[in-house]
Amino acid sequence: MASLKTLFLHPPSFEGFDGGAGSRYQARREIRSFWYPTWLAQPAALVPGSRLVDAPPDDLTLDDVVPLASAYELAVLHTSTPSFPSDVKVAEAMKARNPDLRIGFVGAHVAVHPVESLAASPAIDFVARNEFDFTIQEVAEGRPLRDVLGLSFREDGRIRHAPDRPILEDMDALPYVIDVYRRDLTIEHYFIGYLLHPYVSLYTGRGCRSKCTFCLWPQTVGGQRYRTRSVEHVLDEMARARGCFPQVKEFFFDDDTFTDDLPRAEAIARGLGKLGVTWSCNAKANVPRETLRVMRENGLRLLLVGYESGSQTILNNIKKGVRVDGARRFTRDAHDLGIKIHGTFIVGLPGETRQTIEDTIAYACEIDPTTIQVSIAAPYPGTALFRQARENGWLAGNGLLDADGVQKSELSYPHLPDTEIFAAVERFYRRFYFRPRKMTVMAAEMLRDWQTMKRRLREGREFFSFLARRRAG
Ligand code: SF4
Repeated sequence: MASLKTLFLHPPSFEGFDGGAGSRYQARREIRSFWYPTWLAQPAALVPGSRLVDAPPDDLTLDDVVPLASAYELAVLHTSTPSFPSDVKVAEAMKARNPDLRIGFVGAHVAVHPVESLAASPAIDFVARNEFDFTIQEVAEGRPLRDVLGLSFREDGRIRHAPDRPILEDMDALPYVIDVYRRDLTIEHYFIGYLLHPYVSLYTGRGCRSKCTFCLWPQTVGGQRYRTRSVEHVLDEMARARGCFPQVKEFFFDDDTFTDDLPRAEAIARGLGKLGVTWSCNAKANVPRETLRVMRENGLRLLLVGYESGSQTILNNIKKGVRVDGARRFTRDAHDLGIKIHGTFIVGLPGETRQTIEDTIAYACEIDPTTIQVSIAAPYPGTALFRQARENGWLAGNGLLDADGVQKSELSYPHLPDTEIFAAVERFYRRFYFRPRKMTVMAAEMLRDWQTMKRRLREGREFFSFLARRRAG
């Protein structure tokens, strides 16, 4: 079937904004970082002749993307809560350039707020709710909007909603994203500080079995079950990826929790071992040593682990489903086996106090992941955390980001104001990285390899200027 000429766009917003269709928590990071726009690449792979433009990694501005409006019949823009006002401006500028362009928004923000999103601007013709791959494919095929499941749209001046689209169960029906990456992206533009460069990331499944109250995707677009592609489907795409991108040093599986299905994780690992690729993935801090061993022996280099807090009370409050002692044991096992860990922590979750912040910093130093990321708790609309914060009067009205796209604390508690939560992030980083032992390890790593030295020096400069900007902001 012929398709409308379709543009998939992650619009420009804040400079260096890591908020595209692959970023769970949209913000400008401490160092230049970009996730792949995988959630846009999937529908792009379903629409023949389409093009995917990811503005921030390519340093494209509004002036660069608006002229594209004239060349297309349909534009699908990925948006997020913090970038929505700016994304609306991009849509309005494109509509002004080409009034016949049909414009739709996708992403968790519009899935949670379809009516408010459409009401925000007449430039938005439709929004797709929840999973949107086949929804967009049908729009691109030219079907009447009212016949497309999962769509909210404007008709005769009113906002209307088509019935929900059933959740996708046959995950092998999703196309490979690799061909879209090769066609439309410059993979050297994608950096993540703790991954080798260049890297490529993709998904082998969607959803997460855990119920963490702050976590956006499982509560919106992904679902709270782990729906997976078959092992064969994943390995076939990986073989193709290796052929398409011989320069890639590391592949990253960006599933919410790749280790949610241990036998499958081990089966994929064994296949990757045969392919001879270096890879990394997201994991929960509860993977048994035997699974870690199988993964490590088959090319696993690094795990991205959400520890969140060193306080068991906070882990219980957010329904993390992990024991602090279990996380300690897991980390020891990973260290023993030579697996690197990028540990992520959050300050300002419900139950946080000055003391729990200190405890979490001490805990991070004790378990000693290779690198860390410290984020401020972000109550995204659509999450249980957002509802809890609203009911308890914890929303400060600050918004999630400042004018530069840097995280602010939207949560503020009577015993722990937003300003203290904000200040704790820098203290956490300094106490973790400025330990003699950590600095020695990092210096040794740089001295071993000139490329690593150059990269770490650049990232160090970016990191310090990020902290300075935060303080000034
Ligand atoms: S385990 Fe990770 S991905 Fe799953 S709900 Fe919790 S934070 Fe989200």
